[in-house]
Amino acid sequence: MARITLEHIRHAYGVRPSAPKDYALREVNHEWADGGAYALLGPSGCGKTTLLNIISGLVRPSEGRILFNSQDVTELSTEERNIAQVFQFPVVYDTMTVYDNLAFPLRNRRVPEDQVDRRVREILGVLDLSDRAQKRASGLTADLKQKISLGRGLVRSDVNAILFDEPLTVIDPHMKWVLRSQLKTLHRHSKVTMVYVTHDQTEALTFADKVVVMYEGEIVQIGTPAELFETPKHTFVGYFIGSPGMNVFPVSVEGSKAHVGGMPIELGFAPRIPAGQKAELGIRPEFMEISRTGMPLRIQKVEDIGRLKIVRADFAGQTVSIVVKEDAEIPADPHVVFQPQGINIYANSWRVGREG
Ligand code: ATP
Repeated sequence: MARITLEHIRHAYGVRPSAPKDYALREVNHEWADGGAYALLGPSGCGKTTLLNIISGLVRPSEGRILFNSQDVTELSTEERNIAQVFQFPVVYDTMTVYDNLAFPLRNRRVPEDQVDRRVREILGVLDLSDRAQKRASGLTADLKQKISLGRGLVRSDVNAILFDEPLTVIDPHMKWVLRSQLKTLHRHSKVTMVYVTHDQTEALTFADKVVVMYEGEIVQIGTPAELFETPKHTFVGYFIGSPGMNVFPVSVEGSKAHVGGMPIELGFAPRIPAGQKAELGIRPEFMEISRTGMPLRIQKVEDIGRLKIVRADFAGQTVSIVVKEDAEIPADPHVVFQPQGINIYANSWRVGREG
C-alpha cells in the first residue's frame, strides 16, 4: 500500500509543447494518503485517464516526479510499481474459468493454493459470481466479464494501489449501484489506496472519501462530497457537481455587499476582489428560497422530480434554477431570497474565502 506523491507533473502528448493548451495535464502537485479512496472526476478530455496512466506507469510524464512512499517510481514499469488496474472494458482470459481468471494474479506470484482459494472465494462472493465459478469466461456476457476484470483487480491484497478507469461503463444500471457500494466496503476492509476515474458525479461521490475534480488539465478541488457541495473552490466545481448545478451571477462588490442585477445582497464579510478580476456570486439552487418578499423573479417553468420541484426562472437577466419542496407554494408575484450560508464569492472563477 502506498502514499502517492505527484510532484510538478505535466504532460503533453505532442512534441515541443509551449502554450498551456498543449498540455493534457498542466501542473499537478498532490499527495494522496496511503489507504485513501479517491475519485478523479471531470468532463471528457480533462486529463483523468492521463493522470491515472501516469500513476500506473503506462504513461511517462513529460515533466515531474511520482513517488510511492517517498520512493521515486517515475522510471519504473507498472509491474515494478506493483499496481492493479481495471479498465473500462473487460480484460479476461476467455479459455479459463471464472475461478481461474481470479486465481491467476495470485498463482502468478506463487501464493499458496489454500490462500488462493480463500481469497478467490471471497471476491467471487463480493461480486456475486460464486455460482459461475467453474464456467468458462468465453460464454459470459460483457458485464459478467467486466465483473471478472474487477475481481482480477481486487484479488491481490499486497498491491500498492488499485486504479480503476471508468470500470462500470458496461455494467447495467442496477448492478452498477450494487457494485459501487461493494467496492466501497472492500476498500474499507482492505485499506488499499484506490483511485477511480469517472465522469459520473454519483459514482464519484458514493465511492470516494475524497473527490478530485479536474478541469482542463488541472485539479481544481480535492474535497469530501460535502465540501464540494458547500464550498466549491471554482465555479466549474459548483456547476459540475450537483443537479442542477450552482447558479453563478456577475456581481459588483462594495464592502460586504454584492450587487446582483443592481440589487444589494449582504454577504456578512467583505471579500477582497483583486483589481481587474471578474467578481461572481455562486449560490446552489437549494439555497434560493421563493417567497412573497425579496428580489423579484419571473417563473419560466416548474419540473416535478418526485419529492422536490425544480423551478426555472428569469432573475437578474439570466435563467436560474431553484429547488423547492414538492408541496411548496409558489406565490403569484414571486420573489427570491438568498440564504446567506449558501453564498460563495468568486474572483476570476476562484472562490474568495472569508479570510480574503
Ligand atoms: P475521457 O473521459 O474522454 O476519457 P479524460 O478526462 O480521461 O477523458 P484524457 O483521456 O486524459 O482525458 O485526455 C486528455 C487530453 O489528452 C485530451 O485532449 C485527449 O484528446 C488527449 N489525449 C489523450 N490521449 C492521447 C494520446 N494517446 N495522444 C494524443 N492525445 C491524447
